[in-house]
Amino acid sequence: MDNRSVIADALAPFRELFEAFRTEGYQLYAVGGCVRDWVLGKVPKDVDFTTDALPEQTKDVLAKHGWKVIPVGEVFGTIATLIHKKQYEITTFRVKESYTRGSRHPIVCYGRELAKDLERRDLTINAMAASEDGTIIDPYDGLGDIKRRVLRVPSHSYPQALSIFGDDPLRMLRLARFKARLGFEADPEATRAARDMAGAILTVSHERWFAEIDGLLRAPQLQTGIDWLVETGIWPLILPEFHILSLVNREPVSLSDCKLVECSESLWAQSLARVYAAPAQGDLRWVALFSMLGYAFARQTAWADETTAMLAGEMMQRLKFSGAKTAYVINVLRSLPSGAPTKRAAREFAISLGHSIQDWRSFQDVRLAVLNEAYRDAAAEALALWDKALAPYYADPDAAEVVLPKTLSQALSQALGVRGKTLGLCIAQCREAVLDQCLSEADPVEIFVQWVRDHFEN
Ligand code: ATP
Ligand code: MG
Repeated sequence: MDNRSVIADALAPFRELFEAFRTEGYQLYAVGGCVRDWVLGKVPKDVDFTTDALPEQTKDVLAKHGWKVIPVGEVFGTIATLIHKKQYEITTFRVKESYTRGSRHPIVCYGRELAKDLERRDLTINAMAASEDGTIIDPYDGLGDIKRRVLRVPSHSYPQALSIFGDDPLRMLRLARFKARLGFEADPEATRAARDMAGAILTVSHERWFAEIDGLLRAPQLQTGIDWLVETGIWPLILPEFHILSLVNREPVSLSDCKLVECSESLWAQSLARVYAAPAQGDLRWVALFSMLGYAFARQTAWADETTAMLAGEMMQRLKFSGAKTAYVINVLRSLPSGAPTKRAAREFAISLGHSIQDWRSFQDVRLAVLNEAYRDAAAEALALWDKALAPYYADPDAAEVVLPKTLSQALSQALGVRGKTLGLCIAQCREAVLDQCLSEADPVEIFVQWVRDHFEN
């Protein structure tokens, strides 16, 4: 099927929406990423629309024709509606927009022409619109750039690229993300402009950084996106800690606390190898990316891991990770505990990992996969020992939690007259006794009381 029929088919469910705008004398087009994805033969994540109707007028059209009006971003010209229970956004044509320093929201001006709206978009492949019958409006040759597999800003010159990146420096990160997603080449003029504009990325809010880097890390060809950010000098501005890794050549893995030996690959190259070996799901690529930070600074494994956790924590705070995501990453970063995997040690470790235990296990495979041969066998052996002890918790992470009898507090205070801090202490001791297998969670509460009486009479 040609592009036109593909797009006309994809837009068929929106026939009544197109009709409503047409009846009221307004233009309506599908625009941006969806058109790009249809041309690439992919299913777009979302379908966005653009119109010459002003937001108030869009609301009137929708209301008059019985569509729901959802003012999701009215001040930026965006009104949403529900079609077949899914939300779709309709944005008034804009002209060149810009962001004030650190802001998440653009200063927008409405326009009357589709071509101007397309001109202010980040890349030619994202600057196409489609009308209901599948006709593509493509004033900046996005179709040609898709064929040539090139990422270019609309209006191709170096000064234009400087101006487009200057209006919203996040566009440089978006270019890297699309590079990672599609494997296209960056236009040399855009690369030159990005190199000269790199510093402007510091004016962009960290939430917007995070969304793009997160998308880049999940993309299939993330290596080419990261390489481009490193080449343009943007990467070290966003994540300067990694720059230090590229200056240090060191073998990161020691099985005990022996001295780390020198290694020919930089820690940065080794981190990337881990990132590429990590699966795209969850946040394992973030975990892999952070996982060697500490080795650039500390010479002993234990301190390296602690340093990694500290630096990763600080970086995640800077990148505005949620508290839950930060806790998850720190958890999965844990290395194997030192010492033997006794039942108690395994259970305690499983408690500390909680529901991250399965991802922690996946990450151990990533660590092994890129390990220097000299260490791989011994590391795999150590892991296999822990695997045995941790197996029940891989299958059911909740099984690690110590569950004491529900009536334990009441029974202890009645039988022994303990209260407050002392009661808390007795309960903590019962928990320890369960971990040491002196008591079983299945024991009746009287056995617990008796055990406390026997051990802590005074
Ligand atoms: P994805 O498939 O990841 O959603 P997308 O291209 O649809 O990619 P969105 O963030 O959904 O990206 O944006 C929709 C469209 O809006 C883009 O295709 C592009 O035309 C335009 N756009 C988004 N962000 C910017 C920006 N920072 N500068 C210029 N245009 C942008
Ligand atoms: Mg989109």
